[in-house]
Amino acid sequence: MERDEGRRAELAANLQLVRERIARACEAAGRPSGSVTLTAVTKTYPASDVLLLAGLGVTDVGENRDQEAAAKAAEVRAAGANLRWHFVGRLQRNKVRSVIRYADVVESVDSERLVAVLARAAAERPVPLDVLIQVSIDGDAERGGVVEDDLWRVSDSVAGSDGLRLGGVMAVAPLGWDPDRAFAKLSVLAGRMAERYPGATTVSAGMSGDLEAAVRHGATHVRIGTSLLGMRNSLR
Ligand SMILES: *Cc1c(COP(=O)(O)O)cnc(C)c1O
Repeated sequence: MERDEGRRAELAANLQLVRERIARACEAAGRPSGSVTLTAVTKTYPASDVLLLAGLGVTDVGENRDQEAAAKAAEVRAAGANLRWHFVGRLQRNKVRSVIRYADVVESVDSERLVAVLARAAAERPVPLDVLIQVSIDGDAERGGVVEDDLWRVSDSVAGSDGLRLGGVMAVAPLGWDPDRAFAKLSVLAGRMAERYPGATTVSAGMSGDLEAAVRHGATHVRIGTSLLGMRNSLR
């Protein structure tokens, strides 16, 4: 119990700092505060942390591995917390059936083949699955994300699938890139996406190290792990 109180205080302090960073970045960009949603990326951290964050007002959580996320989401739901779960990791097609049971949003859709499997599985859901297209900013598809030339093929197939709802784009700034350059590029693609599909206005960009640049370039969602929960033991 005491340890729980200590962790709660730590998470509350971190959350306040992150919220202040987001608010300052919004102000500097001339954007209304509240125009950016915080997604807490809780990978490697236990369900107890998710519950503490939920108690502190966090509404959205992100996970990147199905096995870990499925168990955590079940535990959190059993404890009575109702959160919006974002799947942000590489999604293997054989994990789709599991992921669509707890995820509200899949942010990492990057191929037509994955869209087809998702659409088939999502047809069984009571509500459509929100999907973001993960965009490759440096054009290196090996590292995940759709290259620009394939963007409309993949997003058209999402838009044409009954069980899926196209929400917008997601990206990770490539290692070694200036985040402003990366997110400026993303912003151009996001703008074209929103023109082509008027409902697809979500821009998920920005992590602990670069959320200010992402907000400057129009991010509607930032995905924050380390600055909220602490350093992870592994690199993921
Ligand atoms: C881990 C992860 C994050 C969070 O990164 P931090 O640097 O810890 O804030 C954001 N997005 C994705 C896709 C991730 O895998």
